Amino acid sequence: MERKTVKLQDLPVDTFTDSQAFEYIESTHGQVVTINPEMISCAKTNESLKNIIENAELVIPDGIGVEIGLKILGYNVRRIAGIAFAHKLLEASVKNCQRVALIGSKPEVITKAVENLKAEIPGINIIYVRDGYFKDDDKVLSEIKEMQPEVILAALGSPKQEEFIYNAKKLLPNAIMIGVGGSFDVWSGCVERAPEIYQKIGLEWLYRTVKEPKRFKRIFPTLPLFVINVLKEKWGIKC
Ligand code: UDP
Repeated sequence: MERKTVKLQDLPVDTFTDSQAFEYIESTHGQVVTINPEMISCAKTNESLKNIIENAELVIPDGIGVEIGLKILGYNVRRIAGIAFAHKLLEASVKNCQRVALIGSKPEVITKAVENLKAEIPGINIIYVRDGYFKDDDKVLSEIKEMQPEVILAALGSPKQEEFIYNAKKLLPNAIMIGVGGSFDVWSGCVERAPEIYQKIGLEWLYRTVKEPKRFKRIFPTLPLFVINVLKEKWGIKC
């Protein structure tokens, strides 16, 4: 399957459907970036993140913000929820006999998430678990190199998780790795995902912001600024 990316704010975004994206990464392996407006805004000043996104094997549009941005530019690409995509990778790891590593979130969160995932996905082979508050990246990298997991989920927040995965990719070129943000918090039961109706209409962000008002600062002004920047891009006005 050929990759077809489009440019959004000078960054590549894949135009695959959910199932095509899944099939693609299962065959190529490598780094999956779940791109959102916050990450796009960060990459404007963070050259290293920009380089990581440009070199990722798959960049999926995670959320309504990126879907709207692409629509403004004339691309009809459906969003792919990173949390659901990562869960599907875990389910597939059983039939593919892949070893799994889960890295990130608070110690009590990751412990509970592992317990819940083992109950939900019988046969899942989790061989490495580490909370996300480590100081020494090299130590964790050398531990996973030794354990040789084939599917790695990193929940360290962005851009930390993207940087971690980029370095891990050099050691484990055949693994599938994805940054999953707050997914372990949801899987542990500590944070609730928005009801399906909010997910369907693209308002999961609004539900989460109402539930967790401290997220407001992260979304505003990033989200409206992102839309303004994409409009400038469409009209050829230099940002
Ligand atoms: N996190 C971590 N180490 C850090 C910073 C954050 O493990 O140094 C974890 C945090 O506990 C949370 C996850 O990263 O589980 C994602 O955080 P955030 O709320 O930034 O993610 P979002 O879902 O908004 O991308």
